[in-house]
Amino acid sequence: MPLLEVNNLQVAYGPIVALQGISLTVEPGEVVTIIGANGAGKTTTLMTVSGCVKVKSGSIRFDGQDITGMPADQIVRLGLAQSPEGRKIFPRLTVRENLLMGAFTRNDKAEIASDIKKMIEMFPILGKRSHQAGGTLSGGEQQMLAIARALMSRPKLLLLDEPSLGLAPKIVLQIFDIVRELNRQGMAVLLVEQNARMALKVANRGYVLETGRMTMTAPASELLDDERIRAAYLGE
Ligand code: ATP
Repeated sequence: MPLLEVNNLQVAYGPIVALQGISLTVEPGEVVTIIGANGAGKTTTLMTVSGCVKVKSGSIRFDGQDITGMPADQIVRLGLAQSPEGRKIFPRLTVRENLLMGAFTRNDKAEIASDIKKMIEMFPILGKRSHQAGGTLSGGEQQMLAIARALMSRPKLLLLDEPSLGLAPKIVLQIFDIVRELNRQGMAVLLVEQNARMALKVANRGYVLETGRMTMTAPASELLDDERIRAAYLGE
């Protein structure tokens, strides 16, 4: 059974139809990427799955439950967390407080403290910056914090929106190494990325989204070799 199953999902912002009936699945332990041009609807897809944007029609199932229309906080409780486009760090809260916000669904204090330690092992810079306000961090540090904050809810599925946006190549590699490591530990990831090549290298499968419709899905290695994909998304 898929961990996530999106079926014929339609989403509109007033008169603007952003998703015209898309379907996708993520299996347990899988990294799936959605590639597509600006405005294709990638962010809308993630925001709808996480309960932040309203469904017009269609359904979303997660971990055996229908989550269509469920409030976002309940979806987090079921084990689905999002690292949003633009990171959305709380700028005046410290790094540690940002991490605690990610654990808002939990009240196991000792376990939360131990998870904060784990996040600092994974992202040592967050330990150094622990008492600094989130807003003073560099872009790369904020991205790490956004991922770590999402992980604080102990998700089964991580939605990751544009993690490489605006970051130096070296930091991008670090972020993708973390995605690989999380996946090695068994976490499923649904990844949206402008950098389609990086995304397809880390993913098991990919979907191509064009103006609100899924036009193709295949193993990531096949998409990397596909002439049309190379021409349209890989800058060849
Ligand atoms: P990008 O990479 O630029 O973020 P995207 O593939 O993630 O693009 P979306 O941001 O999901 O695309 O946008 C899909 C469509 O919905 C676009 O036409 C966009 O202009 C529109 N849209 C997105 N958010 C809103 C909003 N809050 N209000 C109105 N229209 C929106």
